[in-house]
Amino acid sequence: MPRIAIIGAGIAGVSTALELAADGHEVSVFDRRGSVAAEASFANAGTIAPALALPWTQPRFGLGWRGKQWRAARHPAFAERAAATLRLAVYSHQRLQALRKTLQLDYERAEGQLVLLRDKADREAIAPGLERLAALGLVVRELDAAGCRAVEPGLNPEAKLFGGVQLPLAEVGNCRQFAHLLRVEAQKLGARFRFHTTVRSLDASGEVVHEYTPPEELAGAPSSPPDAGDTVPQTQGPRGERFDAIVVCAALDGARLLGRKLPLRTAVSHSITAPLRQLEAHPDLGPRGGLTDHQLGVSLSRIGQRVRATAGDEASAHKSLNDWFPGASLPGQALRWSGEHVELPDGLPLIGGGGRLWINLAHPDAGFTLASGAARVISERLAGRKAEVDVSGLDLDRLG
Ligand SMILES: Cc1cc2nc3c(=O)[nH]c(=O)nc-3n(C[C@H](O)[C@H](O)[C@H](O)COP(=O)(O)OP(=O)(O)OC[C@H]3O[C@@H](n4cnc5c(N)ncnc54)[C@H](O)[C@@H]3O)c2cc1C
Repeated sequence: MPRIAIIGAGIAGVSTALELAADGHEVSVFDRRGSVAAEASFANAGTIAPALALPWTQPRFGLGWRGKQWRAARHPAFAERAAATLRLAVYSHQRLQALRKTLQLDYERAEGQLVLLRDKADREAIAPGLERLAALGLVVRELDAAGCRAVEPGLNPEAKLFGGVQLPLAEVGNCRQFAHLLRVEAQKLGARFRFHTTVRSLDASGEVVHEYTPPEELAGAPSSPPDAGDTVPQTQGPRGERFDAIVVCAALDGARLLGRKLPLRTAVSHSITAPLRQLEAHPDLGPRGGLTDHQLGVSLSRIGQRVRATAGDEASAHKSLNDWFPGASLPGQALRWSGEHVELPDGLPLIGGGGRLWINLAHPDAGFTLASGAARVISERLAGRKAEVDVSGLDLDRLG
């Protein structure tokens, strides 16, 4: 049975582990943290929406980076790569639905994603993005203010609202919970999760040098209890182990592990998650599904009986929540979280590889959206089969 090492137990790594284990491989997942989804996949906005897998909302970085983005978007192959990303995102949505139904996964899911436009200028700003989506065959539904309020009856009736865009194939859910559910399923298929184990180096021969670090020595370990399933005896000090293939799902550390100088950049964003008030007289408190406040760059997501506001800065997250759903949540009980987006200049994911080395470097804003599809593609290709969706433009060689 081929032995596969997966580096990283975020949503990309856990999804890949499940697909490879289901395909009959002997899978070992290494993560320096004590549980799955302890970094970027922890409390993200939880949106699964293929339409948001292309960069059509506001840029996050300063001028220097915007210059690189501008050049990347003018590369002759950019249009084909963007199309490949959208194909992957749509495929990923299908794959996720299939997993959800077959494995009966409950991850606090709610349907819908509405982009809120406060004024006409917002509509004009997103026009190029909508044109690109239409050219790629993804049809959105434009709504006036009344239409938006019919979809999301809890929206503040006094807030100024120009209209909105309802995205197809969209839902929100708890990414971390989804990752935990996938871990359990992967373990049932024999996958082993080796937590508190940092991968120091790897190479094209399949050698992985890893080191177990006892939990108390880890800085900033998550407060949640560690995950079960680490059945491998732990020894201290670096240890080499050989695998038939390695899939690098280690986000920012992926470039170092591959020995490549990739033009990656990180940006920190924040989320606030607060319980929704339960008032019989007001059954529509809070969002029903997911919303994007385009002007403030905030996502508002229904996560079970909670609402999550996610933004580049906490002040915008609070403002958007108060503007659209005043009094709906209990801010005194809110949980705060910060996470890192890892981004390439073209804003697209890095998926592919060959031989013994593979990479699944998720997308800065759509890693949850793409995870199920990217995992399936890697598992098909690693087994020497043709993947159901062509993502050849997203491989490492696009970076020279
Ligand atoms: C605030 C915020 C909101 C977001 N909202 C959305 C959204 O609504 N929808 C969406 O689709 N996406 C969203 N994203 C993006 C999404 O969260 C990420 O793309 C996704 O979580 C990345 O998953 P990953 O598995 O690649 O990385 P991570 O979840 O960061 O996992 C990488 C793992 O690798 C491990 N690791 C790294 N180096 C090593 C090493 N050397 N040895 C061992 N382990 C290692 C880390 O410990 C970590 O567990 C958001 C991101 C942020 C920050």
